[in-house]
Amino acid sequence: MENSILQQLKSRLREVHDLERAGAVLYWDQATYMPPGGSPERGRQLGTIAQIAQEKFTDPAVGKSLDQLQSLTESLPHDDDDASLVRVTRREYDRAIKVPPSFIAEVYQHITTTYQAWAQARPENDFEKMIPFLEKSLDLSRKMAGFFPGYDHIADPLIDLSDYGMKATEIRKIFSSLQEELVPLAKKISSLPPVDDSCLRRRYPHDQQMFFGERVIRQFGFDFGRGRQDKSPHPFTIKLSMGDVRITTRIKEDDFAWGFFSTTHEAGHAMYEQGVNPEFEGTPLDGGTSSGVHESQSRTWENIISRSLSFWEFFYPKLRETFPDALEDVPMEDFYRAINKVQPSLIRTEADEVTYNLHVMIRFELEMQLLEGTLAIKDLPEAWHKAYNTNLGIQAPSDTDGCMQDSHWYSGLIGGAFQGYTLGNIMSTQFFDQALASHPEIESEMAKGEFQTLHNWLKENIHQHGKKYTASELIKRVTGKDLDISPYIQYLKNKFGTLYSL
Ligand code: ZN
Repeated sequence: MENSILQQLKSRLREVHDLERAGAVLYWDQATYMPPGGSPERGRQLGTIAQIAQEKFTDPAVGKSLDQLQSLTESLPHDDDDASLVRVTRREYDRAIKVPPSFIAEVYQHITTTYQAWAQARPENDFEKMIPFLEKSLDLSRKMAGFFPGYDHIADPLIDLSDYGMKATEIRKIFSSLQEELVPLAKKISSLPPVDDSCLRRRYPHDQQMFFGERVIRQFGFDFGRGRQDKSPHPFTIKLSMGDVRITTRIKEDDFAWGFFSTTHEAGHAMYEQGVNPEFEGTPLDGGTSSGVHESQSRTWENIISRSLSFWEFFYPKLRETFPDALEDVPMEDFYRAINKVQPSLIRTEADEVTYNLHVMIRFELEMQLLEGTLAIKDLPEAWHKAYNTNLGIQAPSDTDGCMQDSHWYSGLIGGAFQGYTLGNIMSTQFFDQALASHPEIESEMAKGEFQTLHNWLKENIHQHGKKYTASELIKRVTGKDLDISPYIQYLKNKFGTLYSL
């Protein structure tokens, strides 16, 4: 559709987008190379940019253009690019005008100081120090929800920010059916003799780890001409433009899995962003559609691919060449068992595929209770330990590895930050099964180190659409079904049933 109102809207949106991406550069710098002294000022700078972007986006002129375009695009099909642009922009605009720009700036300022305090308090195991920060975060989170009256559950507006359209009640239902399957599976495996995974903790020199990880993700299809990898304590993916999508990883020389699976995970996120239709650049359609769908992409490459036997059939000889001292006497099958060892553990990001979702569900449930007011911040450590005992049969010796382990509650609002991980795991198998149904050769290609068929399928069916479809629309479109846990349960039972001869 050629239309001057549309052109005006697009150029306004591009300005907003430019500001947001400039903020992203500042954020990337903060999370990678900025000295600690830069922190307070950086918080203010990020807040200022976010506020200006918000003011530009919520200008009544944007609303007026959207009103005018509504009637013009109504007759267009749902999947038309312009109709989708108007629909998605409308949704984000209606949401944005409800939140005062001064509130956004206050949130940015607060989370920057909270994050800084957490970075110090966590190693000192000082949860006490974090209580006032978290109480304010909870207060801000409730205020945020309050800008969207009419919700069923106070967490719904917060969940909408990352997984649009998902409801707390629905997620609780999905999670409890998953929990019913996972707790017994984890228990059954835990009762067996533990797998020896000591081969993963031999010496893996830093540079070779970086080299090997980059080699693998290049082969996946991560485009280094439009991206790069750096290091940060908490790995993340960030999009600075369509042609510049960056990931970070972390390296421990005595732990191969720590860095490698971070790299393949983040590459999955980044390839999603690199694959968005270039026509969407600078508009609200440019980006992954929800945190769940995003996570489905990272999990595909991290778990379904990088933790599969087929993948290592090709890569294990290369890995051995790269780390001859560490792996000379380790047969591939032992290495494969080691990287898939199931064991209830304290740290979410290091958890295996079977217990991982239990970590997520614990956090989701605690968030719900904090927001509902049935749990006070000061009682969080105790509630945390209790939940770990019930679900995983273990207890952290400290809050450092308890309720202070993840940065989420200390770098953002409370509510809506965790469900996407498990929703993504569920979706990843739904999508992958569909890809296999269309291209059964994907499996044998993996064993030859070829990933193009899979990557192209993901680009075609998921990546290119950006935010055009909501997560539920996308799942329906790609698989013909709604979100469904059975393929995921089947995947886990097949894989770990074989591994542990259940
Ligand atoms: Zn992720």
